[in-house]
Amino acid sequence: MAPIKPRNGILNITAYKAGDAKIKGFDRVIKLASNESPMGPSPAAVEAAQNAAGEGLNLYPDPTCTELRNAIGAVHGLDPAQIICANGSEELLHLLPKGYASDGDEIIYCQYGFIAYPIAINAVGATPVMVPEDNYSANVDAMLAAVTPRTKIVNLANPNNPTGTYLAKDEVRRLRDGLRDDILLMLDAAYAEYVERPDYDAGFDLVDNGLDNTIVTRTFSKIYGLAGARVGWAYAPKSVLDILNRIRGTFNVSRVSQAAAIAAVRDQDHVARARAHNLKWLPRLSAALEEIGLDVTPSHGNFILVHFPGGAQQAAAANDFLRGRGIIVRPVGNYDLAGSLRITIGTDSENEALLAAMAAFFAQTR
Ligand SMILES: *Cc1c(COP(=O)(O)O)cnc(C)c1O
Repeated sequence: MAPIKPRNGILNITAYKAGDAKIKGFDRVIKLASNESPMGPSPAAVEAAQNAAGEGLNLYPDPTCTELRNAIGAVHGLDPAQIICANGSEELLHLLPKGYASDGDEIIYCQYGFIAYPIAINAVGATPVMVPEDNYSANVDAMLAAVTPRTKIVNLANPNNPTGTYLAKDEVRRLRDGLRDDILLMLDAAYAEYVERPDYDAGFDLVDNGLDNTIVTRTFSKIYGLAGARVGWAYAPKSVLDILNRIRGTFNVSRVSQAAAIAAVRDQDHVARARAHNLKWLPRLSAALEEIGLDVTPSHGNFILVHFPGGAQQAAAANDFLRGRGIIVRPVGNYDLAGSLRITIGTDSENEALLAAMAAFFAQTR
């Protein structure tokens, strides 16, 4: 008998490959591969997690994350009844197609949009519709032109990973206004805290447009330095939350993670320090890498996409060279960007080491 077959779409998926954390022969590495925070989490979050681990691990967590939603709502000025928490924002990226799309439905995402989107879309048998970008930026006209009667959801990471580019508030509004009202717009604002442009907005006001068709996702994995705790959240219309709450994991955020995230969101001084560190290094690292000979896509996140003049071969050689010095950055061939590497902003000394190694690489190839 033939073995059991998976549902439509599953075999289109290439499993997500996380950034390496180790290099053979190195006890310690400099990991600039996964956009993790070089500042780590707030000490208050670590203490809260330790306390939570010390008591009550036999008990299920709060399935509604009420205290966490209240804490997030207080910091962002949002109604906690319009917030959902999840096992990383990645869970939310999967719940949307699961809740709204099936075989034959289309979901739009951008050419260099976060690679988790096509995975989540294929996982429910829907059709991923990839829209070309303009100089590594989302192109609103092209996105609107890709809409068909079968379009259910439009995914936009703003700023986007791995490019670091963002769409200004007016452009996002133009996108929303140009979509049918029954198309859900997912704005993935995982890096919102890092952006300092006055024309940027994560999009909460679009959620409040009265049409129940926009959701903004956020995460504790990036500026909060809690990637290991797996906590994400979204601000959404109540009718959308009703769908997501029916299908999410009941106890999707652990007790330890809820405790850590509550303490983390209440420590905005820590967030401010992480933002300041990033704002110091983003221009400095970008300029220095350009000086060395790389083409740098202007970034608004905590990472930089660099393009090698020598293309894929040189990017691979640079990656190997960096690894030989204990430095892990992110190859992005899975985005069809084999001539580029994505580099996360690290600590002062990690950034200096990266720059020294990259300069040595170019010196050696000259
Ligand atoms: C890192 C990242 C996330 C966060 O994922 P989590 O599951 O919350 O860790 C979401 N979207 C984008 C674009 C990211 O780069």
